[in-house]
Formats: sequence, C-alpha cells, structure tokens
Amino acid sequence: MSTYRSILLAVAASLCGIACADNAPSASDSGPSGEDLKGDRATTRPLTFHPIAPRHAPSGSARTTLLAALDALGRVAREGTATRQQRLADETLARIQAGDVLIGSLDDARGTDLWHMCKDLDDQRACPTATPPSDPAWAGTAALFAALRRDLDGYTWGNRLYFNFAVTVAPEALAATLVHEVDHAFNRSECWYYEVYFAHVVDPTLAFLEEYRAFVAECVYKRGKGATALRCDASAHVELREREYGFSPDLSSLLEPDELARGTIVIAQGLFADDGRFGWLIPSPLSWPSDFAECEAPDR
Ligand SMILES: [Zn+2]
Repeated sequence: MSTYRSILLAVAASLCGIACADNAPSASDSGPSGEDLKGDRATTRPLTFHPIAPRHAPSGSARTTLLAALDALGRVAREGTATRQQRLADETLARIQAGDVLIGSLDDARGTDLWHMCKDLDDQRACPTATPPSDPAWAGTAALFAALRRDLDGYTWGNRLYFNFAVTVAPEALAATLVHEVDHAFNRSECWYYEVYFAHVVDPTLAFLEEYRAFVAECVYKRGKGATALRCDASAHVELREREYGFSPDLSSLLEPDELARGTIVIAQGLFADDGRFGWLIPSPLSWPSDFAECEAPDR
C-alpha cells in the first residue's frame, strides 16, 4: 500500500495499533513523589508541550490526551523496570518539555511540511511544485486538507509532530507513539528515508533502518526489563510486518560480511549499546540535532 511507504505511517500506524502500549502503565494515578523531586530530570518539571502553531495550540480533549500521555512518560521515567527504559522515557519527555519537538494538528501544516505531506499521498495532483514551496505560509487547498484528514492519523517531519486529533487514541498508546516519533526527529529520519528525496522515492534499506530503530525504541519503552535486543528485534519485525511497510532491505549495505548471518539483531545490539553506529536510541540533549532545517543534499 502506498500509504505505507514512509514516515507518515509511523504515526498513523501507532495511533491505530491497539498493541502499542499493551503493558504501559496507566497515567491516571501517577504523580511526583518527594523522592522524585531532585536534579533536573524531565519528570520534575511541569508537564507541558510546545505547539507548532501557538495561536492554534491543541486544546480540549486533544490537550487532555496529550498531557495524559506526558504523564504516562513521566511515570515510566520514575517507575520503569529497567534503566534504559527509564532514560528513554525521561529524555523523550524532556525533549517535548523543552520544545525540541513541537506538537500540533494536521490542520496546522503549512509550507514545506504541508508539501511533504502532500507528496506522501497517493494522489499528488494537489502538490503544486516539484520542490517545496518558497512561501512558508503556503496553505494548500481545502481538498488537500480533506485528503490529509482522511488518509493520515498523523505525520512527522523534522521535529514537528502533527496529529489528526479527530482520531481517538488512548494516552498510553500516544505515549508510545511519542517515543517512536521523537526517535525519528532525533535521528533526522526524513533526511535518510528517501532515495530520491523530492520525489519521495523511498530507499528500502535506509527507510527500514529508520523504522526498525523507532520500533526498537517503542519496545524498550513498553517492555522495560523484558526488553532484550533479541525480543526487540523480533518485536520490530512484527510491527513492520503487521503494519505492512513492505521494506526489503539489503542488509549487506548495513552490516559487515561476518555479521550478516546474525541479521538485524546486530542493529538492535548496536542500539542497545547506544554507540551511534545505527543511529541513536536515547534522545539526550548532547546528541540532539542543532537544527531541523530542510535536509541538505538529501539525494543519494
Ligand atoms: Zn516511524
């Protein structure tokens, strides 16, 4: 399915997936204890997010759900069963609280981001140009927005996380989705995803790596001490298969010859080591991108 070609699916699939956070703790009864109020951890700061369009910040039930998802992240950061899980939740929450990622509605998309959304639709006749528009306020057409709302549950580009708030989602599932999407932002997935960038022709190997990593992050977040490299490797493959990404990666371009027999578990182990070889798992501020401008020389 063509809608499963790229980053847009990540949000859509995660929001739709009932298995996203099947063992994530409830956000309903959490709250900081005295022991938590130390240092500069994300969990010690008020729950907040930074809107993409401040004049149209998510409100009402959308805001309530977002804050409950942040509460869920904070609870895992405090009470998770593994250090890696706690760090992942805490740093994901911290990037959101710091405004390193921005959150808004699909309706807020303008300019370059709206153009990239358009390019991932089946029908690209609404995309007016072969490259992003020079006008950052380009607002497309009513027909384009109708198509986006119909086809997408969400979309991530750069550090902007757009959600279709007409879609109902549980806070625990949204928390797992935020882990997934912050991983994409952290690793600048949009700059690696495409073999032909402006045409949005996916590179099946590199796009696989971007999604595989984000699903390993989800696995670490959801499974805690049960998240081994072996289990998260298997989990990522299940997610990619069930959500019909359809990637056929050439692992010989990612792994050394003597690693090929072990397959993608090598990638999971690298991510668990957080050595940067296959991108980064824990979105620490020290490794966070300095900016999220349009990708430079993205075609390979
Ligand atoms: Zn994804």
